[in-house]
Amino acid sequence: MQGSESKSRQVRLFVEDGLCAGGRVEFQADAANYLRSVMRLENGCEILLFNGRDGEWSARIDELGKRRACATCLYRNRPQSFPPDLWLAFAPIKKSRTDFVVEKAAELGVDRIHPVLCARSNTRRISRERLRQRAIEAAEQCGGLNVPSVGNLTALEDFLSCELGDRKLVFCDESMSCSGKKFPGEIEGDSFCILVGPEGGFSEQERDLLRDVPNSLAVSLGPRILRAETAAVAAIALWQQFNGDW
Ligand code: SAH
Repeated sequence: MQGSESKSRQVRLFVEDGLCAGGRVEFQADAANYLRSVMRLENGCEILLFNGRDGEWSARIDELGKRRACATCLYRNRPQSFPPDLWLAFAPIKKSRTDFVVEKAAELGVDRIHPVLCARSNTRRISRERLRQRAIEAAEQCGGLNVPSVGNLTALEDFLSCELGDRKLVFCDESMSCSGKKFPGEIEGDSFCILVGPEGGFSEQERDLLRDVPNSLAVSLGPRILRAETAAVAAIALWQQFNGDW
């Protein structure tokens, strides 16, 4: 839930429940408090709801207490659409910068976010719940109809062998920054995963491993070495421009 938008903008909330005409949706204390005390809504106010499956619905608040609220779905504003089949795998960085990566990935239209542990990772613990919450808030705020799922923190090697499948790995390789090569534009494949390394970069051993993945494509993000969070945003934007739904 985003607390700082102007009141003129309709409140938009992600819910887990199914949405259909006449369906009732119940909110627990956090959401009830947000609707009542932060957004100062009242019974009868209309809000927007989405759940990543049934599109976006207008709903009317018909109960608004301190601990609980209820709304009734009125009509569907937008049918469900799905983002391109793009994952982002990245080595988590500091808390606030990891939050930034998750927020931007959700805004830019990534379908799944997968934290991976690399040899030079400096953060070895993450809260998946917290990251999922950041993704929900970003989707609520940007008008997206989907919230990216968030995977468990997984060692890079295990990620490659157990999670990646035959998805194309778009591996952001900082050692290519001096190569003069451009981001490849259109990339062949049906499903993709952008991989961004840790602040310390990939080890030589990891780079060899990544280059050996059958479906891997090492890419450059230009002549400068970017911070990991900048690299994630730049890579998603470039990929979306040529291969995605922009
Ligand atoms: N400390 C490392 C840089 C790590 S940058 C060094 O000095 O070499 C963090 C991650 O961002 C990298 O692992 C890579 O995945 C990505 N990245 C940053 N700049 C890049 C570039 N110019 N091309 C491709 N990937 C880049």
